[in-house]
Amino acid sequence: MLAGMELADKLQILADAAKYDASCASSGVKRSNGGRGIGNATGTGICHSYTPDGRCVSLLKILLTNVCIHDCHYCVSRVSNDVPRASFAVAEVVQLTIDFYKRNYIEGLFLSSGVSGCADATMDRLTEVARRLREDEGFCGYVHLKAVVGASDEAVARAGRWADRVSANIEMARQEDLDQLAPERSIAAAESSMRSLGTQIRAARSERRRSPAARRERPFAPAGQSTQMIVGATATPDRSVLFTANRLYRTHRLRRVYYTSYSPIQSAHHALPVKAPPLVREHRLYQADWLLRFYGFEVGELVTRADGNLDLDVDPKTAWALAHREFFPVDVNKASREELLRVPGLGTTSVGKILRGRRHRSLSRADLKRLRAPLTRMLPFVITADDWSEARDIDAPNLAARIQPGEQQMLFEASMSARVGQL
Ligand code: SF4
Repeated sequence: MLAGMELADKLQILADAAKYDASCASSGVKRSNGGRGIGNATGTGICHSYTPDGRCVSLLKILLTNVCIHDCHYCVSRVSNDVPRASFAVAEVVQLTIDFYKRNYIEGLFLSSGVSGCADATMDRLTEVARRLREDEGFCGYVHLKAVVGASDEAVARAGRWADRVSANIEMARQEDLDQLAPERSIAAAESSMRSLGTQIRAARSERRRSPAARRERPFAPAGQSTQMIVGATATPDRSVLFTANRLYRTHRLRRVYYTSYSPIQSAHHALPVKAPPLVREHRLYQADWLLRFYGFEVGELVTRADGNLDLDVDPKTAWALAHREFFPVDVNKASREELLRVPGLGTTSVGKILRGRRHRSLSRADLKRLRAPLTRMLPFVITADDWSEARDIDAPNLAARIQPGEQQMLFEASMSARVGQL
């Protein structure tokens, strides 16, 4: 660590080291402007996230320290990597957060850390930042704390008293992958933290429902918990990634699983690939994740390829529909909610509008157009009161080519992948 390091130097090092954690839409973005001009805030740790209600908020996203005793091969802060090291004092992070907040740069803080010595002591320092922000500074903005690797369940749970969200990263879909790339980490340990946090979140919610006094207290981790999985660092296919995500959602009621494409780092371990996986893979995983949680799909329905991966050329819902044409067309005036949710191009909001609208009258093609949903993708799979012309082509061999978005649209979708409700 450099002696007498300025706060700005620390900020540069610790914001840069934090960018690999998925919590925001602009993580990892670097805009080259030769040090001139305005608009590149990511270098100083400001990133953007989307709240569950769709608001975009700015967060100060930093590590407390990038000193770490562990050697996770995919991590830029690993002990064996020769990088400049820095550590913030608790008071410095509190001050930075308040200063940035008062200048209107940020609305919240995302704080993670390497493991500097004792894991519980490191976790307690993260918690202390949140406590001081709340108690000493009266800060009401969003605070997301990461569970420190190896911290006890009790230490992680203490963070929930002050943070909006606490999250333990599972990192890899399978223990074999961790054994290979991060032997000091385990899925069981991450899940133990999730279990303990989940128990406390549920207990606190039930206490708030029961007791007016509890409702006056700060809620315990009101934004719940999330986790992150890195994809593309090993050969583990999407099927395993999605099975693990699905299990975590069901077992621990996580708000979100974030998928982060492995990003090659300097002096990487020989077990790691030299190239990052295609960005669109991350995007397909987010789409499949959404279908598992809100559309009633199962992993086995979405991943059917022999190699266990999602098709990169077509979104997973359309891929399912093309492979199950016998299910279509569905009549928008008669089909159940579950059947409508399987129609390409129809989202939960549009399906809700269809169900409400058809209570009063039969829906026509013009009504579908008013949904502002992608008609080209949807029409071959549905019939309306006045039109089923496109549905006649449901078995056409060229249907896939006709309804798929063009290359430009797909690239645009891929670039938006990290923006799916990430906070
Ligand atoms: S414990 Fe965290 S900071 Fe340390 S090497 Fe592993 S991933 Fe990096």
